Amino acid sequence: MSTYSSLVERQKAFFSTGKTKDIHFRKEALSKLRSLIKTHERELMDALKRDLNKSEFEAYLTEIGVVVSELNFTEKHIGKWAGPRKVKSTVAMAGSKSYIYPEPYGVALIISPWNYPFQLAVAPLIGAIAAGNCAILKPSELTPATSGLLADLVGKTFPEDYIAVVEGDAEASRGLLDSNVDYIFFTGSVPVGKIIMEAAAKNLTPVTLELGGKSPCIVHSDANLELAAKRIAWGKYINAGQTCVAPDYLYVEKSIKDKFIRLLGEAVSTIYGSAPHERETFTRIVSKRHFDRLSRFLVNGRVLFGGRQNPERLLIEPTAIDNVDWESPVMQEEIFGPILPVLEYDSLSEVVRKVNDQPKPLALYLFSESKEVQKEILANISFGGGCINDTVMHLASPYLRLAGWGRAGSVPTTGRPALMFFPMIKAS
Ligand code: NAD
Repeated sequence: MSTYSSLVERQKAFFSTGKTKDIHFRKEALSKLRSLIKTHERELMDALKRDLNKSEFEAYLTEIGVVVSELNFTEKHIGKWAGPRKVKSTVAMAGSKSYIYPEPYGVALIISPWNYPFQLAVAPLIGAIAAGNCAILKPSELTPATSGLLADLVGKTFPEDYIAVVEGDAEASRGLLDSNVDYIFFTGSVPVGKIIMEAAAKNLTPVTLELGGKSPCIVHSDANLELAAKRIAWGKYINAGQTCVAPDYLYVEKSIKDKFIRLLGEAVSTIYGSAPHERETFTRIVSKRHFDRLSRFLVNGRVLFGGRQNPERLLIEPTAIDNVDWESPVMQEEIFGPILPVLEYDSLSEVVRKVNDQPKPLALYLFSESKEVQKEILANISFGGGCINDTVMHLASPYLRLAGWGRAGSVPTTGRPALMFFPMIKAS
């Protein structure tokens, strides 16, 4: 038996004792997780700095703070989520009562990416704990400081038979995927998502896929352009564009393109300074391989602003390029970096047609003051989540779920903190 299978077997044995189902046990585990974070906040920030050069501000805003909010929300609602929920009975069941009972799956495997290496590993762990599962975390090998710290802290806080962190690359993932876990929660790229789904299919293991893709950002001529520029500058370039729901490309109405690009360039300078690629606090590209891939996109079109690079420190300044079309390499794959290709349009019907020719986006953003324009886009393009007159902010609400469709992923219909719940219908 491999070490992975043996770990999964030990967790299954622990799960079968029923301890993890006890609501007090779950609450205590969440409280231990909270104090782990609180006590080691400084070390977490240092690890994020080493892995991605994240500033303290970004580390707290986009990683630690998000996890703490998720904990607050979960602790507030866990009592309600964990209990049975009464639902209506049909006429044929006259005299009976119907309930939905939430049940944990067992051993949940969480495979996470490098771009928010703390948040995207620990947020699904909160869901797993809250629902009464055991959990195995497989964080990314590309952020070794954060993954190593997680392994160390979780190892000191929880018994391995309950919660374990397995460090390693694709081989470790494969070992765990072959070990017949009860649930797989994967966050990562579309190609690896396909591998995960194939592995899950062998044992019919339920799976959540949080994937990526190309998220359009449409700016219509009637938008509040100053506001749009600020909000796009923030949502696109935070974490150096390495955000799954970052605007991937700009689709701007031709008549306002020049004015808007000028405003966007100004907003970028205001937020990130005049030479972010030299700054101590601008997030870097995760590896040389990723840096080289992004560098190649810079020659796909004409640089409108930005474009400077710092290869020693793997930094690329916030950049916009035009003279690209749907066939350009930069439009063929998810960019996942601080480069924004700009396309222009004459009519909304053209936008609808072109966006619908692509796989369903994970996110879509529209800037327009017109209710008619907003209705037209919402009625004719489907996407996982999004904002009108803002970017990325839908992630800030626990009431709005993060969701992808088709190539962008698949999630059950409940909110993220409840992903590990398994409803059962009983009639009496
Ligand atoms: P990735 O798919 O390369 O890796 C993700 C995880 O899978 C890592 O832990 C990695 O070790 C593991 N892995 C890699 N190859 C594997 C294989 N062959 N078999 C099994 N496991 C394997 O993704 P990444 O580069 O770390 O992250 C970037 C991607 O993640 C982007 O596409 C981004 O859009 C997506 N993402 C999505 C969300 C979301 O919530 N939808 C959030 C963040 C990132």
